Amino acid sequence: MSPAPVMPAPRRGWCPGLARPMPTGDGLLVRLHPVAGRLTAVQARAAARAAREGGNGLLDVTARGNLQIRGVTAQSHARVAAVLAGSGLGDVRHDGGPQRLTLNGPLAGTECRAVVAAVEAIGREVMGLPAKTLVAVEDEAGALGPVEADLWVRITGAFPSPLWAGVRGGGGAGGTAQLDAAPPPPIAPPPCGEGKRAPLDRGPCGAVAVDAAAQDGESALPALQLAVATPDGPLWLAPLPAGATFAILRVLLTRLAISGARRMRALANDQRATLLADLTTGEGPPGSVAVPAGLHGRTLLADFPFGRCDAALLDRLAGWSESHGDGHLGLTPNRGVALVGRDDATAEALRDEAEAAGLIVDPADPRRAVAACPGAPACASGGTPAQADAPRLAAAFAHLARLGATAHVSGCPKGCAHPGPATLTLVGRADGRYGVVPQCHAGTETGLVLTFGAVLERLESTRVPHDVRDAFREPA
Ligand code: SF4
Repeated sequence: MSPAPVMPAPRRGWCPGLARPMPTGDGLLVRLHPVAGRLTAVQARAAARAAREGGNGLLDVTARGNLQIRGVTAQSHARVAAVLAGSGLGDVRHDGGPQRLTLNGPLAGTECRAVVAAVEAIGREVMGLPAKTLVAVEDEAGALGPVEADLWVRITGAFPSPLWAGVRGGGGAGGTAQLDAAPPPPIAPPPCGEGKRAPLDRGPCGAVAVDAAAQDGESALPALQLAVATPDGPLWLAPLPAGATFAILRVLLTRLAISGARRMRALANDQRATLLADLTTGEGPPGSVAVPAGLHGRTLLADFPFGRCDAALLDRLAGWSESHGDGHLGLTPNRGVALVGRDDATAEALRDEAEAAGLIVDPADPRRAVAACPGAPACASGGTPAQADAPRLAAAFAHLARLGATAHVSGCPKGCAHPGPATLTLVGRADGRYGVVPQCHAGTETGLVLTFGAVLERLESTRVPHDVRDAFREPA
């Protein structure tokens, strides 16, 4: 039987999914987008099986907490898709928009996950949303740290929102309730300050999917605060009740979709001015800091070294989640997993198991300071073996990592593993050497090109992060 045709890749700004895998150096890459990054043990085993039987057995967790299966072939793709779709891990939209719109912190509470589900439901109704659109959803526990989002939703707890009752209702058997929400309420006046209200062209609110678990014991969702990405950083609006926030969010996403821009911060000035003209700005919350690896109460955050694991390890993690915890795994933006122990003893046992399996559970582990993409030969664009070079870079960089420095080794200027700046960025070239970029990101032009060995030698004599710029100065 001839294999099912693989849908062709669109030209720009797209993201791979299940139906539309991405060609890479080691075959097709299939990306899974579980809502809130949560997998049941059964789903994790299905992903491991798909990777083992239809891919090359290797998986990556992305910086958005998604899971990639590598080495899929045109012949095995249909089987991989069937295994994953049968486990509820199939694509949720087919218009080229984001399969997963939101990102949440690994310690996010049930309220935060309810907001995530509501935002995902709103996003799925907006046709033509750019594929890379990202809404960061945070609560106090589920901090994300700096994220290149298009919109942020922060649970503020500033005032209760009985309007949340309008999107609440009975739970379904599947653990997720499809709730018929009331039409969006009028935009409430801001709690403080002057300002005009947004003339929102609202449609019917539609059904909002809310995790049934999130409803247990909760009487009202706290107020939400929304921020919009601009070239100067997030522009925070005044806190509003949940229903009003969701109505504004819907309008902002719709206007982004029809603008033609690929990211919110890329809007033309006049487009942004129109978007923001009638919204009331507010004081932003304090900047958040990402939660590091380690035990946090009964929750273990364990990072995969450089974001990669294999099918056997994913199977073991699924088993631990059942034997020690609640039968769920969370995929984290730190490119690892979150596992919740049943009690303190099982949480500590989880940490010991993970550490013995080679996962990072110590926040001081120098590998945490180094980001690495697959590089060559796994990725066709890679000029250097970034993943293979990363452990040696981490070892040579350890003394700088202890002082807060970060490094990024990338197979090419695209910088998939870490879009932002790092203290030291190495950019793979077709000749097998690295372009060296101090204090900036992978897309930065550089005149300094070194072998990997020469980079390691220079690091030996670099004592403090401040010295990196001098040690890797471009030739005059
Ligand atoms: S940064 Fe380049 S080499 Fe690395 S995964 Fe992305 S495209 Fe491939």
